[in-house]
Amino acid sequence: MLAGGIGAARFLRGLLAELAERDPEAEVTVIGNTADDISLFGLRVCPDLDTVMYTLGGGIQEEQGWGRDGETFAVKTELAEYGAQPQWFGLGDRDLATHIVRTQMLAAGYPLSAVTEALCARWRPGVRLLPMSDDRVETHVVVEDADGRRAVHFQEWWVRMHAAVPARSIVPVGVDEAAPAPGVLDAIATADVLLLPPSNPVVSIGPILAVPGVKEAVTAAGAPVVGVSPIVGGAPVRGMADACLTALGIETSAGAVAGLYRGLLDGWLVDDADAGTRVDGVVVRARPLLMRDAASTRGIAAAALDLAGDLVAAGRR
Ligand code: GDP
Ligand code: CA
Repeated sequence: MLAGGIGAARFLRGLLAELAERDPEAEVTVIGNTADDISLFGLRVCPDLDTVMYTLGGGIQEEQGWGRDGETFAVKTELAEYGAQPQWFGLGDRDLATHIVRTQMLAAGYPLSAVTEALCARWRPGVRLLPMSDDRVETHVVVEDADGRRAVHFQEWWVRMHAAVPARSIVPVGVDEAAPAPGVLDAIATADVLLLPPSNPVVSIGPILAVPGVKEAVTAAGAPVVGVSPIVGGAPVRGMADACLTALGIETSAGAVAGLYRGLLDGWLVDDADAGTRVDGVVVRARPLLMRDAASTRGIAAAALDLAGDLVAAGRR
């Protein structure tokens, strides 16, 4: 599975619950987006990897969907007292421990993939969590406001500006020179099923597919590729994915997102609200796609696996 943050992490919970019954021996490899990563106060922060790790490891702030549960913000408050910038990114005390360990290991020369494995030794997420690349890739957003036209880090646009300032372009800087992390291409090539969860297509799944070799590996893979639409009834369920699609000149609809994955997808799950969506060369199925609770989320994962199975049975791969 390719994965962003919250949408992916929640879907993964449903997937693991479904697999526990359907196929307890099944192994899940998650290829996580690292283009949201940012350095703050000298610390390397990997929001999407951590959201997956904390969610599956039982350490997530449940309502918020990111960050640690039982979090306190003493360090953030102290930093603000010094006027230290930036103050718009919420780094909690517990979360900071993760970033300190990560930064220490990176400084000692370990690649991000090894660091992620070490962090997961504590959280035991029940999946193999791989960063898309050990190389640094950072999504930058070109914005234009009263301060003029400039590029800001994706997090500044998303968190500080709430994506309210229109994006002129969204660029995963460094991706062309990035190499897939160890294990990524092999996991894709040997998978029985390839899943695209309901993640942000532009800033989560897009950068992973843009790592040289990844798109080619997905196309060449023997496994069916099944995706779950992050757009329901013409709107993102949460977050501002519509602002990202608009920046690319793409309509916010389940069909248009599938269009972004053209040539890769075999099956596409859309919400009942989007029944009737047609995508050339793709089997589209409608069902409820809101991850309201454990049962509904598991139902979505089950539907994705069923669709993959049907595609194989029909000889589509
Ligand atoms: P992020 O990196 O934390 O923004 O998380 P992702 O990229 O994994 O996913 C965010 C996307 O998940 C949002 O853009 C929403 O469109 C989608 N999403 C969130 N909740 C749901 C849900 O309950 N159902 C579906 N279908 N999509 C959802
Ligand atoms: Ca993200």
